[in-house]
Amino acid sequence: MVVSVGWLFGAVHLAGAQAGPLCGTGRNADVCFASVDRSGKLSPEQRAPLVAAAPVAIDVVGSRRFAKELAAFHAALPAAWVKRNRYWRGFDPDAAPGAILAAFAGLHIDTRGGARARVAARFGDNLAYEGSTDRRTGERFIALNRYRLDRPLGGLVATYVHEAAHKAGYSHRAGQSPDQKCEPPYVMAQLARKLAEPDSWPAFAASRNACRFWREMPGAR
Ligand SMILES: [Zn+2]
Repeated sequence: MVVSVGWLFGAVHLAGAQAGPLCGTGRNADVCFASVDRSGKLSPEQRAPLVAAAPVAIDVVGSRRFAKELAAFHAALPAAWVKRNRYWRGFDPDAAPGAILAAFAGLHIDTRGGARARVAARFGDNLAYEGSTDRRTGERFIALNRYRLDRPLGGLVATYVHEAAHKAGYSHRAGQSPDQKCEPPYVMAQLARKLAEPDSWPAFAASRNACRFWREMPGAR
């Protein structure tokens, strides 16, 4: 079928989608982040990879594969473990991808600098922060640690998913632990990383940063 460009743009316009670098593509074209570094704290070199990761995050979470693999992971979790874990109790794998996409839509991706971010960067925690919601305008922000921006695509995508998961109401226990890495914001971020950057997944899944169930559950990987 031949589709003229004019017709296509018209259709996109009528659908209300603003095709652009911060939007998804195809069936996810109407999901768009609001901004990356709106306050202009970053150099063009720092900003470019953050922009590049935005449509990837949307397309990955909006993919059928993400929904399918999330449902499979959830179904394979040990029932007794889920029962004791309040962060998984009531989790609906069919609703979660849509909830993350809804959190992405209109979200501002900002960064945070300063002494505390610098210390966190040095000690390997707080790659990002859930950030704020402007009470007056309703605008929502996540904040990446400005000293930890130099990360591969899969890592940035994972961070967007993790922080958006918090915006969508998903949570995890405090304090880094093996169980924390197996709770919903982490697992959804890990799955997004897997689909965004499949080549690096086997090494990541074998690391302590990945939920142990990827290694322990048959077929999860
Ligand atoms: Zn978190």
